[in-house]
Amino acid sequence: LVELDRAHLVHPVASYRGHEKAGVRVLASAKGARVKEAGGHELIDGFAGLWCVNAGYGQEKIVEAATRQLRELPYATGYFGLGSEPAIRLASELADRAPGDLNHVYFTLGGSDAVDSTVRFIRYYFHAIGKPEKDQFISVMNGYHGSSTVGAGLTALPAFHAGFGLPFDWQHKIPSHYSYRNPVGTEPQAIIEASVAALRAKVEEIGPERVAAFYVEPIQGSGGVLVPPDGWVKAMRETCRELDILFVADEVITGFGRTGPLFACEDEGIVPDLMTVAKGLTSGYCPMGAVLLSDRIYDAIADGAGLTAVGHGYTYSAHPVSAAVGLACLDLYENGLLENGRRAGERLMAGLHSLADHPLVGEVRGRGMLAAVELVTDKAKKTPLPASAEPAKRVFDRAWDNGLVVRAFPTGVLGYAPPLCATDADIDGIIERTKMTLDQTLE
Ligand code: PMP
Repeated sequence: LVELDRAHLVHPVASYRGHEKAGVRVLASAKGARVKEAGGHELIDGFAGLWCVNAGYGQEKIVEAATRQLRELPYATGYFGLGSEPAIRLASELADRAPGDLNHVYFTLGGSDAVDSTVRFIRYYFHAIGKPEKDQFISVMNGYHGSSTVGAGLTALPAFHAGFGLPFDWQHKIPSHYSYRNPVGTEPQAIIEASVAALRAKVEEIGPERVAAFYVEPIQGSGGVLVPPDGWVKAMRETCRELDILFVADEVITGFGRTGPLFACEDEGIVPDLMTVAKGLTSGYCPMGAVLLSDRIYDAIADGAGLTAVGHGYTYSAHPVSAAVGLACLDLYENGLLENGRRAGERLMAGLHSLADHPLVGEVRGRGMLAAVELVTDKAKKTPLPASAEPAKRVFDRAWDNGLVVRAFPTGVLGYAPPLCATDADIDGIIERTKMTLDQTLE
């Protein structure tokens, strides 16, 4: 398998360049929060795959729902006025639970195409209401909104721009709230004020009548699990309302219990104009993402946005098997998993905080089952691990050998996002194996 993989299977080049040489690690089976390599090596999956297997592995209810749907109707297009029962039901269940009037659901295959779809819907919306000049988009440095071309341009991580002339000239950024290394200091109110001022200044620079939307992850994930100060998301949401800019919450990572509630926007006390979800929507059992649109947006674009030709859609939008899986996931979240995730999240955060005095630990941050440890070589000076992927990859490899899957970001940040079904033993194992890995890294 390793030879065949090396010869034929393309892996993303963005993260661990060394992997091609070392050879792929083949996962063979999984149950709960544990995964097993082909050779039998068992690990705790501290990252739920790619922060997506929120329900955990081997959930019989999900397997049954998918199997039933595969037998009954494996495919129905969302085009031509066709549909399927699970897709309609899932849309309705999501609308019931989403904040405010996010009552309309467009299904995609994942997060990147959900983000792409928001850009299209927003452009249609401004056409429909007679403001087509609103065609400029703003996002936040260190943010991640996908690796499709439009999403990659909103993403603010340089590796996703290289070679493509990205971002597009209509895609703008403001500085991140990243509090551990922020030029305005660590004081929460100062960070909030700086971000509000940066958004206002950017809008002024572009021209207030030109700006369409502002994109926010309630917690920045791929940028290194960067948690904004309390009140930051709300302040940005209110500023957008004041400036007549749509607010898009990208909950691809934070949705479905990752930070405690079903959606992180609930904790923030905000209602976005549009919201993107994916990952935990189907917990990795099948691919699916979605855009949730508010009444105001949907009502304006529902019959073609006043344009003569409006085309948008994917062959596998509203896939019935994915939708059946999504319904089973929702059922599991609401019958125990959200609650277990909240309990396990407290244990995870407490456990990681117990490592705060370790010489390599600069900062521990997170909320619920979404956390990170930022590694430094000098705590007082906050010296990052040398800026190459290699040290991070070594930490990843060592953790792997110790039976732990963590995300090791090239910036020297370890990311955690265990399945919500994690037991106390799983969480304690994550902490013990992290400590063991850090001690070995010191040697
Ligand atoms: N938005 C956010 C916030 C994400 O974290 C991701 C994926 N990590 C995406 C969008 C893109 O999702 P996908 O990989 O499913 O295309």
